[in-house]
This record gives sequence, C-alpha cells and structure tokens, in this order.
Amino acid sequence: NSEGRVLFDNVSNVESMENHSSRPEVFNALRYGYGEAVHQSKTLDEQTFYRAIKLNDGTVIRVSSTFNSVYKSVLEAVLYLFIILLPVIILIIIIANKLTKNIIEPLNNLNLEEPYSNNNVYDELSPLLHRMAKQNDKLKKQYIKLKEQEDEFKTIIENVREGIIVLNNRGYILSINRSAEEIFSLSRSGNTGKHILALNRSKILLKAAEEAMDGNSYEAILKKDNRKYNILSSPVYIENYIEGIILLLLDITEKEERDRIRREFSANVSHELKTPLTSIIGYSELMKNGMVKEEDVTKVSKRIYNESKHLISLIDDIIRLSKLDEKESELPLEEIDLYELANQVIYRLDVHAKEKNINVTISGESAVISGVKQILEEVIYNIIDNAIKYNNQDGSVNVNVRKTVNNIILSVEDTGIGIPAEDKQRIFERFYRVDKSHSKDTGGTGLGLSIVRHGAEFHNAKIELQSELDKGSKIKLLFQRK
Ligand code: ADP
Repeated sequence: NSEGRVLFDNVSNVESMENHSSRPEVFNALRYGYGEAVHQSKTLDEQTFYRAIKLNDGTVIRVSSTFNSVYKSVLEAVLYLFIILLPVIILIIIIANKLTKNIIEPLNNLNLEEPYSNNNVYDELSPLLHRMAKQNDKLKKQYIKLKEQEDEFKTIIENVREGIIVLNNRGYILSINRSAEEIFSLSRSGNTGKHILALNRSKILLKAAEEAMDGNSYEAILKKDNRKYNILSSPVYIENYIEGIILLLLDITEKEERDRIRREFSANVSHELKTPLTSIIGYSELMKNGMVKEEDVTKVSKRIYNESKHLISLIDDIIRLSKLDEKESELPLEEIDLYELANQVIYRLDVHAKEKNINVTISGESAVISGVKQILEEVIYNIIDNAIKYNNQDGSVNVNVRKTVNNIILSVEDTGIGIPAEDKQRIFERFYRVDKSHSKDTGGTGLGLSIVRHGAEFHNAKIELQSELDKGSKIKLLFQRK
C-alpha cells in the first residue's frame, strides 16, 4: 500500500515481511510512479531485478526476476566441464599408458649384446640398432686385440729371466714378475699395491727408485743371498710427467764368476808361462857368459830342453782349453767307439807306461757314442796319462768300457799315489796340482783335468772320482745313452 506494507506476495509469507517503503524501487514508485533496482545476493551467485509502478489507487505493484550471475554460470559450466574432462583425462591416461608401454617395452626387452637378433621392435629403432651392432662389433674386436696384447705382454714379462718391477711415482708396486718375486723370495700373489720398501730394505733399491722418481736413470749392483744383481731403474713419462718407474734386475752372478775365472786364468797363464821361460833365460845366459863348466853343459842344456818342452805342453794345453772354452763345435760329430779309442790311446802311451813298468790293460765291450773324436781322444789321453804319471813303479792301470741301461761308462783305475780328500774337488780347476814340485817332474801343467772336465761337459758326460791316498784312484766318465 502507499505506506509500504506488503499486502500480497506470490512467493513469501506476507506476515513475516518487513516494510518496503525504503526499498529503492518502491520508494521511487511511490514518489515518481516508477522505480527500478538490482539486488545482488550475498553469495554473488544471483542477481534480482525489481521493477515497481504506482497504480491509480496509490498501491504499488512490484515484479521481480532472479538471474544467475556470470560467475555462477561459469562456475556451473566448469562443473560440467570437469564432469566431461574427468573421463577424458582418465581415457587419455589409459591410452597414454598403453602407448608408452608399447614404445618402452621393446626398448626394455632389447638384447643389446646382439641388437640384430631376437629383437622384435618397430622400424624406427632399426637405425639405432644397426649403429649399436656396428659399435658392439667394433668394441668386441678392440677388446680382443687389447686382451691379446695384454696376454702377450704378460707372457713375456712373466717368462723373462730378468726381474721386472713397475712402480707408481710414489714407490708403490703396480706390477711385478715371477723372476722379481723369486729374487726377493716373495709369494706368488698379493705383492701389488705394496711399497717397494716392503720387498727389500736395501738402500740401493730405494736409491734406484728415488733416482728414477727424480727423472734419472740409475744403475747399481744389488747383492742378495750370495747372488749379484745389476739393478737398472728408469722413469716412465706420460705427457711430461713422471707417472711411474721401471726397475730391471739382471742376475749377473754367473757372468761375474766367469769374468773372475777368466781374469784368474789370464793371470795364471802369464805366471805359468813365465816360470819355465825365466829358467830357460837364466840357464842360457849362464851358458852364453861361459859360466857353465864343460862337464855341466849336458846337464844344463837338458834342463833348458825340459823347460822348453814344458813350455810347449803348457801352450798346447792352453790352446786346447781355450778352444773348448769357446765350445768349438765346428769339429764334426761322429759315431765313436770308446773301447776302440781308449785302446788307441793306450797304445800311444805305451812308451810312458814302460818307463815305469806299468801294466795298462783294457776290459769291457765296445760302446759307440756320438762325439767329437779329437776332444774325446784328449779327454781319455789325459785321464790315462795321469793314471800312469801318478802311479808307482810296477803299478797297473785298468781301463774299462761298459754299457748300463742309461749310460756308457769309461773308467780308468790305477794303483797310484791317490788324491788327498781335500784336493779331490780342486784337481779339475785350471793349473791346480796337488803336489807342485812332484807334478813338475812328471811334466804336468795342471791343465789336463780341466781339459777333461770341459771335454766331458761338451759331451754331456758326468765325471765321478774315487781315490784313496797311497792306494789308487778311479775316474769314471758317464755318457748318456741315446
Ligand atoms: P797335471 O798336468 O799336473 O797332471 P791335471 O789337471 O791332469 O794336471 O791334474 C791335476 C792334479 O791332480 C795333478 O797335478 C795331480 O796332483 C792330481 N792327479 C790327477 N790324476 C791323478 C791320479 N790318477 N792319481 C793321483 N793324482 C792325480
């Protein structure tokens, strides 16, 4: 009505409604006959449009209409969108999953060792597999080559007689070969990674390593367990930096020993040659100066003659020995019957034997070996010659040749003066004589048994010596049967 009280509402209960006169659309209608207003709901999701007009009787009629707001419309649309999107997303996930699986699975199941065989894959992967197969092939070949090289290197290193040790630049062992392990009496494993000082505490070894670490090559002699080693160290450069050290150990024990023997031999030769020469010069000088009495001339010239003969024997023996030393093998190998050869030697020595009335006999059987006749003849000659020389008047010598399962044995047994036990080892040395003065009378040079030893070695024969002082000696040569 004109006061704003609500007389009728088609939706709400009129009783509970407040006075509407202050509502803008009602206010305007009452005053101007027409009013409009828009009301926003609290939740922003609705807008209500009002329009009111004043009727002729002074009452106001108002109509209203409610619309959803844009916000609400969008909100509602999103909800629908979401409802549509959800299954779409789920569908996409399922399809994507399936597709990914289809792509990944052949990749996961790829046999990378053999990209070409047993691989059920799509075409797009073929170039990759092709490449892979090629690469695999190349790698395999390179690996085999490297392995071969490594094996080759290892075999060489392991089997050389020289000791080889490779250290890093702090002195720790990177590699050590069998010979080096044997030199330092180490076990066959667990040596790499140890410091060089763990092998041996000798100053020389450490110095060799240190010098190489400083970039110098170094050489020294290392003595260990009665053996001598030539130790050589050198640095290993990789791109101008010293990354490691190589130590080489050469066993020079035998070489040194040979050098010593050679030096000793040369000294002995000079001495041995000088002795008879001095006598010869001495006696001939006496004669030249007319200081030898007429009646002594024969005696003195006999001495000169004997010394000269001794000198010649010496020179002969020395030449023979040095030939044997050089392992003179240009002399032909022949089938030689030792029994026959010994017989010939006995014949040659017959005059010597008769001088002392020594009975030389031969027993046994004929036995053929392959050897150098000249050397064997000298060997047998020297043994039988000694058996006569160092025998007593009316003594005897027996030469025996026989075969056993493995050997052909030539033995020479005499009833002579025998060899003192302490000399048995040494009589085979050059110039060694048991009784120098006595030997001189017998015309010995001290080289006879050296020739025997060398000749036996040349023929791979073993020498055995049995002797008892004042009873006699027996020398056996054991040749190997073919
Ligand atoms: P030598 O020329 O002096 O005979 P050898 O080398 O033949 O030199 O012999 C070395 C030494 O061994 C001899 O000087 C001798 O003292 C001793 N000897 C060798 N053979 C016999 C033997 N059958 N009986 C006794 N002593 C021997």
